[in-house]
Amino acid sequence: MSKKHKHFETTVIHEGYDAKEMLGSLATPLFQTSTYTFESAEQGERRFAGEEAGYIYSRLGNPTVRVLEERIAALENGERGLAFGSGMAAVSAVLIALTKANDHIVCSSGLYGCTFGLLTMMQEKYNISHDFSTMETKEEVRAMIKPETACIYVETPINPTMKLIDLEMVAEVAKEFAIPVVVDNTFSSPYLQRPLDLGCDVVLHSATKYIGGHGDVIAGLVVGKKDFLDGVQMTTQKDIGGIISPFDAWLLIRGLKTLPIRLDRHCDNAEKVFEKLKNHPKVANVYYPNDASHPDYPIRKRQMKRGGGVIAFDINGTKEDAQALLNNLSFLKIAVSLGDAETLIEHPATMTHAIVPEASRKEMKITDQLLRLSVGLEAWEDIWADLDQALNNL
Ligand SMILES: *Cc1c(COP(=O)(O)O)cnc(C)c1O
Repeated sequence: MSKKHKHFETTVIHEGYDAKEMLGSLATPLFQTSTYTFESAEQGERRFAGEEAGYIYSRLGNPTVRVLEERIAALENGERGLAFGSGMAAVSAVLIALTKANDHIVCSSGLYGCTFGLLTMMQEKYNISHDFSTMETKEEVRAMIKPETACIYVETPINPTMKLIDLEMVAEVAKEFAIPVVVDNTFSSPYLQRPLDLGCDVVLHSATKYIGGHGDVIAGLVVGKKDFLDGVQMTTQKDIGGIISPFDAWLLIRGLKTLPIRLDRHCDNAEKVFEKLKNHPKVANVYYPNDASHPDYPIRKRQMKRGGGVIAFDINGTKEDAQALLNNLSFLKIAVSLGDAETLIEHPATMTHAIVPEASRKEMKITDQLLRLSVGLEAWEDIWADLDQALNNL
């Protein structure tokens, strides 16, 4: 459609939409339609035969959704994008497309809870096994790969303790074995980290988080090679059916326009709150990728533009103290999810990571005193004032 724009801040507003094709409408029109009429029986035949381009039925394609898909593809620097009705619809479509019965997946040691649940289900139903790796060195990654390994699946930063994995290093090992690397880029968004530029093969998002940015949509996005995503669309998306609604695609197009501005503000606020948390006597450990004293800091400098908006911290105290801190807050919201305008805080051990067995939680440093903070867009002084009074009242 339109020509590729040079800068991210321009692409995020213009790519994939040409007002001339839409009666001059500045905003992308919402095509809230389930199906498309054919001008003749023969045209319907040609469309189904793939001999003529055009829309057939909204599970197979929709003009509003297409704008979103072209835009995210450009932002991640990939050939093609594909939108889904949730982050998990995106994760499951990609993993089902990449595997067959008896295959094996190597995963980062730390996965979104429902991704872990999906892998467990794939193991039970189809004998698709998985192993976790901290992926700290090439040797460590190589040692995990078996003849039946179908892909490497990575989250970085790892939720909730913000440990980083060197994507370029993992991609180099994967190339030796000719297997694809899939990256869940939800915590960074393409503004902070672009895994395809680092040699990875598929990048996916829970667009529910930073890409939507306003806490009003659940959606997923995938970007990768055109051949691969054409296949995903025609199999796991078309036939399993986890598509996005046109209205949700429309909301994401609207949300995306401010992604760089919002992310910079999330990062500015998180940097300020991180400094304050580090120096508070009731706080024991603080995990934030922009911490210069952290061993992962060189990876952060290489592969992420900034540290992002999520901080985790241990308080000096017990599970009850962690819960009391949440109950002491005046306007910060107790909620899971992240990337919204509102600052959200949650208790991983009893909420997002409650399904992780206690022993694995300990290995992942998810203590009963750990809290995860998604720093919002409010004035950082107000965010800190609320946290400070809640900590001081423990
Ligand atoms: C939220 C989240 C998901 C799942 O996305 P939904 O949109 O809730 O289905 C997957 N991965 C990560 C890292 C997430 O934070």
